[in-house]
Amino acid sequence: MPTRRVDLLVVGGGPAGLAAAARASELGVRRVVLVDERRWLGGILPQCIHPGFGLHRYGRDMTGCELAEKLIDRVSSLDVDVYTEAHTVRMGYESYLSKTAEVLTPRGAFRFRAKTVVYAAGARERTCFEAGIVGSRPAGVYTAGEVQEMMDVWGILPGREAVVAGSGDVGLIVARRLTLEGVKVKAVVELMPYPGGLLRNVVQCLEDYQIPLLLSHVVLAVEGSKRVESVLVAEVDENLRAREETVKRIPCDLLVIAVGLIPRVELLAGAGAMIDPKTGGPVVNEFLETSLPGVFAAGNALVINDLVEHAMEQGELAAESAYRFIEDGGFRSASWKRVRVGDGLRFVVPQLLAGFRDVKLYLRASSPSENARLLIPELGKSVRLRSVRPAEMITLTLKAEDVLKAERLTVKLV
Ligand SMILES: Cc1cc2nc3c(=O)[nH]c(=O)nc-3n(C[C@H](O)[C@H](O)[C@H](O)COP(=O)(O)OP(=O)(O)OC[C@H]3O[C@@H](n4cnc5c(N)ncnc54)[C@H](O)[C@@H]3O)c2cc1C
Repeated sequence: MPTRRVDLLVVGGGPAGLAAAARASELGVRRVVLVDERRWLGGILPQCIHPGFGLHRYGRDMTGCELAEKLIDRVSSLDVDVYTEAHTVRMGYESYLSKTAEVLTPRGAFRFRAKTVVYAAGARERTCFEAGIVGSRPAGVYTAGEVQEMMDVWGILPGREAVVAGSGDVGLIVARRLTLEGVKVKAVVELMPYPGGLLRNVVQCLEDYQIPLLLSHVVLAVEGSKRVESVLVAEVDENLRAREETVKRIPCDLLVIAVGLIPRVELLAGAGAMIDPKTGGPVVNEFLETSLPGVFAAGNALVINDLVEHAMEQGELAAESAYRFIEDGGFRSASWKRVRVGDGLRFVVPQLLAGFRDVKLYLRASSPSENARLLIPELGKSVRLRSVRPAEMITLTLKAEDVLKAERLTVKLV
């Protein structure tokens, strides 16, 4: 297998990977290679023809396609070697300055030997099986991403009457897209007593189009032999168990599964990186470096991001860290402190801090609440938050000197 030596290999050409490749090249990293398994760059963005991208970063509300074009233009103007239709099948860790990746392309198989890697392979969608939906599996059962790609990339209408399982942002946005294309969305079904997506998306995607949202409900089963004919839906009790007496049949020919994303970490885990069960992504330090020195993670492969700007800034930080790693030889520290996740929170990223630099923490609340306080008792830090929702990432910046002086760090939400 032909081997190429590179300084930085970026796996994944979505917003996180594109931002990483561009930033590294701008900083002067030589021999930057970006690989993506799809025919085009941009990751999820090209299939997102809706607005809502880039407002925080560029002060302009763009569609996913517009933002993808902006990022691709930035990379194209720099010295980045891009391989599309290039599927990374295996990654390995040989030594401090040598990580390997085996990549299959239409022109043959390659092995890259890289000083540093930014892993930005995004996320995959949970399936019908993972959502516990039983019954038959006829035509008309698709994940939200498949529906979005069918409609907005290939121009295929996947059905006429739909039920959407899951009210995260992806489910809400797809419900609106289907409605705009003339599909009757009979219900968006959500297990929890609150919607899973951003408030702005509940208003703009459901309320504005009078699409019913069934909270505390579950899709139990699919019915139909060749094509979906109906789905069974039931209310759930406080333990999230279906109440049998409430089961009802909703006739439809399309069931859209939008029950969450999972970081794609198989390659990282295969190379030996430690995975955090709370995020599903790798454990990283304040440089977004995984437990494999010189291998960094960003975007949805690190933690599921609701805002594309977070994925991009993680990509840029990972690139800056790769640059420092190549120039200074890494970040060995005797005193990494593990941030403990306290009450009211699902996770914190990065998980390990040493106080080399100011650090932005990404946190997610366990449940919605009003007038909450984010506390780090060891630093005497308390931040008031008017309203928190699991769908919206909370961010908090800590000063390097505060991290340095703390013996332990716990973050909690009360
Ligand atoms: C339906 C939907 C709507 C959204 N709407 C908004 C919105 O309105 N506003 C907003 O700010 N954010 C939105 N987001 C969130 C935002 O799009 C994501 O946070 C962002 O795209 C994550 O970027 P990423 O680069 O980590 O992953 P991705 O965009 O998923 O890119 C990952 C890339 O890695 C490649 N890859 C994976 N595995 C391999 C491999 N083994 N070898 C080679 N390549 C590989 C994939 O082909 C893909 O191109 C939305 C997300 C979705 C799913």
